[in-house]
Amino acid sequence: MKGGEAPASGGAERRMKSYLKELECPKCHRKYDAAKVNNLCECGGPLIAKYDLGALRREFDPATWSSRPNDLWRYWELLPLLSRDSVVTLGEGGTPVLRMPRMGKAYGLRELFLKDEGINPTGTFKCRGAAVGVSKARELGVKVVAMPTAGNAGAAWAAYAARAGLRLTVAMPEDAPRVTQAECLAYGADTWLVKGLISDAGKVVHQRAVKEGWFEVATLKEPYRIEGKKTMGFEIWEAFEGRLPAAIIYPTGGGVGLIGMWKAFNELKEAGFLSGPLPKMVAVQAAGCAPIVRAFEEGKDKAEFFEGAHTVAAGIRVPSAIGDFLVLDAIRSSGGLALSVTDAEILETWKQVARLEGMLICPEGAAAVRAARVIREMELVGPDDPVLVLNTGAGAKYTELLGEKARRIEDSAS
Ligand SMILES: *Cc1c(COP(=O)(O)O)cnc(C)c1O
Repeated sequence: MKGGEAPASGGAERRMKSYLKELECPKCHRKYDAAKVNNLCECGGPLIAKYDLGALRREFDPATWSSRPNDLWRYWELLPLLSRDSVVTLGEGGTPVLRMPRMGKAYGLRELFLKDEGINPTGTFKCRGAAVGVSKARELGVKVVAMPTAGNAGAAWAAYAARAGLRLTVAMPEDAPRVTQAECLAYGADTWLVKGLISDAGKVVHQRAVKEGWFEVATLKEPYRIEGKKTMGFEIWEAFEGRLPAAIIYPTGGGVGLIGMWKAFNELKEAGFLSGPLPKMVAVQAAGCAPIVRAFEEGKDKAEFFEGAHTVAAGIRVPSAIGDFLVLDAIRSSGGLALSVTDAEILETWKQVARLEGMLICPEGAAAVRAARVIREMELVGPDDPVLVLNTGAGAKYTELLGEKARRIEDSAS
């Protein structure tokens, strides 16, 4: 059964326990109390949630997860909420893994899969981060939140903030997809348009948040958005029945989805729920905005600001990311890589996937599909290796880009 808010079966849900222990900075290893409201570490690093995986290993049978409703809350033990009453949900997660037989054939991959995040409540995987982030903010007593966005995160947070009764301010580039602007306004978020990119929106939000005492929920500036996004990793592990794909390809902006999945796999491993090799993590970016790819190719540990960032795939138009060092580390320690594709390749692949597979994915997802061809050509994977692509959003949010016109037929028999 899909999750949501159907009546709980007996008292089992009430007895569920989170193994959340504390927060830790991956840069300087300082620890923080997870019962308090936290943003960044004193050293400027992001704070990451840590769980008591030893106790989880001793006390919990992971088969329990698949017996619960099919949404992201089934992984309660590895989520940061302490009380079930804090949960703000619209039915996020539990998305399908689908085969792409025709695209796979074209690329020389017998087992090409796509996980479709487009069916989430606001049409992107951003719902996962927003559901957990908003729920935890509410549990900690936060009332007013603010964030910059390239578009989709703002739409997701606006929906969950409305449902939770939190006040939200979002700032986005003035050319962010129109649909996402309309969504933020519809959900009642105070919506600002900013000249420039998400990085410029971030500066504006930060200044005002400091002045007004708003809680900043920008990517990795609070610790729990990533906890929501990591559930994609748990779902992949479940869908593949413990045997993970050889490679996972992720369209990378701030990179939180990729870091999140990598965190999920490592938690499962440390809890003793997963054996065998982890997937090669592949970050794909647009050629017009590829800070992670550049850093990867230059052998650097962190990325430099990408000047003049531009691409049709608005969700990955992120010129600098606070978690860059974590993305690079996950890619390298998994034996994966970072690569870029052009906008022309994105648009071509986007239309091809719709026609060949009946899937209207998003341009970011199309970038990831295209990257499957590249990693096969480079022989990072063999012809029989299962490869999974993340489609991060619904194509219907981007139809302004498709630019195709239907033929008008006159009604008379002229
Ligand atoms: C936000 C977004 C991404 C990038 O996600 P990150 O976790 O920030 O790297 C990719 N695709 C879509 C559709 C998005 O909205």
